[in-house]
Amino acid sequence: MLSLAKHALSRHKNWPQQWRSPEPKSHYDVVIIGAGGHGLATAYYLAKHHGITNIAVLEKGWLGGGNTGRNTTVVRSNYFYPQSTRFFDHSLKLYEGLSRELNYNLMLSQGGVTTLAHSRHDMEMFERWSNGLQLEGVDAEMLTTEQIALRCPLLDTSAQARYPIWGGFIQHRGGVVRHDAVAWGYARAASALGVDILQNCEVTDIQQSAGRVQAVNTNRGVIRADKVALAVAGHSTVLADMLGLALPITSQPLQAMVSEPVKPVLNGMYISPIVHAYVSQSDRGEILLGGGADRYASYGQRGNLPLMEETIAAMLGLFPSFSRLKLMRQWAGIVDISPDTSPIMGKTPISGLYISGGWGTGGFKAIPAGGECMAYTIAHDRVHELIEPFGLERFVTGALIDEGAASGVAH
Ligand SMILES: Cc1cc2nc3c(=O)[nH]c(=O)nc-3n(C[C@H](O)[C@H](O)[C@H](O)COP(=O)(O)OP(=O)(O)OC[C@H]3O[C@@H](n4cnc5c(N)ncnc54)[C@H](O)[C@@H]3O)c2cc1C
Repeated sequence: MLSLAKHALSRHKNWPQQWRSPEPKSHYDVVIIGAGGHGLATAYYLAKHHGITNIAVLEKGWLGGGNTGRNTTVVRSNYFYPQSTRFFDHSLKLYEGLSRELNYNLMLSQGGVTTLAHSRHDMEMFERWSNGLQLEGVDAEMLTTEQIALRCPLLDTSAQARYPIWGGFIQHRGGVVRHDAVAWGYARAASALGVDILQNCEVTDIQQSAGRVQAVNTNRGVIRADKVALAVAGHSTVLADMLGLALPITSQPLQAMVSEPVKPVLNGMYISPIVHAYVSQSDRGEILLGGGADRYASYGQRGNLPLMEETIAAMLGLFPSFSRLKLMRQWAGIVDISPDTSPIMGKTPISGLYISGGWGTGGFKAIPAGGECMAYTIAHDRVHELIEPFGLERFVTGALIDEGAASGVAH
């Protein structure tokens, strides 16, 4: 508050830089590739919890310019399997205290996330799902059609709807967080603890010898490292290929869009797994609309018209009155999807190389817990118990965590 008042007097012209931009050193204890939320959070917790500060976070573009700055900002923990629910609920709890911890307003808004049911079978499934969540201590509650109509009068809850709404379930603590602020908040805090954040620093190769990672080649020179972590989302396979490591990940565009701003008409987020769309309203008043990932693997960070049309048509089935809104902006990110749509976190067969990937369409909500658990794993070279089920080895043992239904569209 005092800072705000002080800088207001000088018309906000003298704010200091939020993070340092040093020249790369020749050696770091830990090099993290990718300055998205996961890379930055991992660096922050390594410094904060484990006292390791000789760290570089290397970013080929600008900090937070990947999926972290392109997502629809949904945070929730209503996953299907207990392992996922525990991990994502820990993340939500960390988010609940993060503005204070980082001294950075992340604009967490917990307006609730409502998942809509369109048949008797959906309702049965949702009963089981929300009961399972309650057993894990997560705040899930079944809603009738009437309760949903009261919460959201603009939703077409009539029997004539293309997919009539039978009810649904809500996670009250679900909501949204300002995405850029998450990246900036972690970056500022990590930099203050001594972490070097190097933007415009692209990793072009990774050196290994005798099964151990040694150094990274970048467009700003070779940087030696004792430990290297990959946190590059849609480019995970590109980086792993540099070491001959095959990852079970496909990179696909995922797009979203916003309308012109309108007065407040929506409280919280509404998701329909059947029509494959989710809708919320931003603080600026824009109606924010998202759908599923493109079925076509690509690195084209643009999205495309056919999928936009599909998502808009799906949304109009739920909110017919939105047909009169003008679309203002559309964008896409490249998401890294694993076969069971669960993340891949932990150690790799290469000594000193760690991975935080496979975040697919839903890794924003996982940034605090992902960062915290990866930091522990890197510091101790021992996998944190919360992320043990999410190791690469599950694709050999077959212990998959198929979150297709819970992570599919409800990003
Ligand atoms: C449209 C859309 C909507 C989404 N909605 C949600 C949502 O509502 N809720 C949710 O939880 N998740 C959502 N997600 C998913 C979420 O955004 C991601 O899972 C999450 O941001 C991944 O974070 P990250 O730090 O791993 O990756 P990123 O933020 O993508 O960071 C990776 C960084 O690595 C850098 N990089 C890549 N290659 C190199 C290299 N060779 N050298 C150096 N740097 C490199 C990239 O430039 C990038 O900045 C959405 C994604 C998209 C695209």
